[in-house]
Amino acid sequence: MISIARPLIDQEEKNAVIKVLESGLLASGHETEAFEEAFAAYIGMPRGIACTSGTAALELALRSLGLGQGDKILTTAFSFIASANCVVYAGGLPRFCDIDSDSFLMTPETVRAALDRDKDIRAIIAVHLFGQPCDMEGIMAIAKERGLTVVEDCAQSHGALLGGKKAGSFADASCFSFYPTKNMTTSEGGMVLFKNEAPARRCRMLINHGMRERYRHEITGYNFRMTNIAAAIGNEQLKKLPAFNAARQKNAAFLSAGITNPLIDIPAVLPRREHVFNQYTVKVKERERFLRHLEKNEIGCGIFYPLTIPEQRCMSGIAQNISFPAADGVKNRVVSLPVHPGLSRGDLETIVRAVNDFI
Ligand SMILES: *Cc1c(COP(=O)(O)O)cnc(C)c1O
Repeated sequence: MISIARPLIDQEEKNAVIKVLESGLLASGHETEAFEEAFAAYIGMPRGIACTSGTAALELALRSLGLGQGDKILTTAFSFIASANCVVYAGGLPRFCDIDSDSFLMTPETVRAALDRDKDIRAIIAVHLFGQPCDMEGIMAIAKERGLTVVEDCAQSHGALLGGKKAGSFADASCFSFYPTKNMTTSEGGMVLFKNEAPARRCRMLINHGMRERYRHEITGYNFRMTNIAAAIGNEQLKKLPAFNAARQKNAAFLSAGITNPLIDIPAVLPRREHVFNQYTVKVKERERFLRHLEKNEIGCGIFYPLTIPEQRCMSGIAQNISFPAADGVKNRVVSLPVHPGLSRGDLETIVRAVNDFI
């Protein structure tokens, strides 16, 4: 079986973890600080705050930027649930926009349509789905014109570029996940990056029970601190991220060149983008039959995502009753194929052969 995802953990990560274990300093500490600094510098943002997950990072970004109770916040209808749940945690109301069905991304047009429908939306969560940045230049221009705050959800786009600029360096804050299926991992883990000092300071308090001084709790915070153990893995993985991404891109190029089956739409790479292929997502009409065919050929795959966010049961009574034709169309057609850096040349050939054999 060729797996859909596999983290690449080597001797460097093992040594780094053992060093932390032997130091006795297991909780948040010097490894965490070093990781925050190195990761923020890599993306090109001035401040980084490590936390326990990408989901926590999204909630922290909203709260740190003063968003919360009763605020309407726009996100995409087609993403992982955390892209909208963060709004609910913060006490806000998620509002949704449709996507472009070729790139699976929200666009300035779909954002504008949603903002025109709902005049009091205060912020936008821009999601760079599957490793491809959405049009941040267009989205930031709309935000500026309407006085909106913007947060980037970069959980699938570590190192992706738009016009030579990293995803996660455009908005007021950006959020990353280091879950094992992402482009780099810390086991569980996340990071929030900020442009400005004030929200970063607030975030620093929020992750640590609202404290600046020990046992003086100024605001109601959380324990969302990243451990030295997780950060030690992250520091090693960050050094390898450019090579991981290059391998993903090479694998994606091999698949896209090899897949000639007219029943399969290969993923679109938009102009001026460097796509880092967290997922290699194709579209197919007869999906059930295609899934059985992949299974028979021992090729792992994933359906990201089988439902739009607004139609998830947990969103009933929260999401409005609006249809999203593009998202509704693609959810029944998407299949993500293995593209991770652990694939061999033989694995890639097996995938191409099996996909082209589907009739
Ligand atoms: C993985 C993911 C998250 C959440 O990250 P966790 O670390 O799993 O909490 C948020 N948004 C998107 C788009 C993701 O893919």
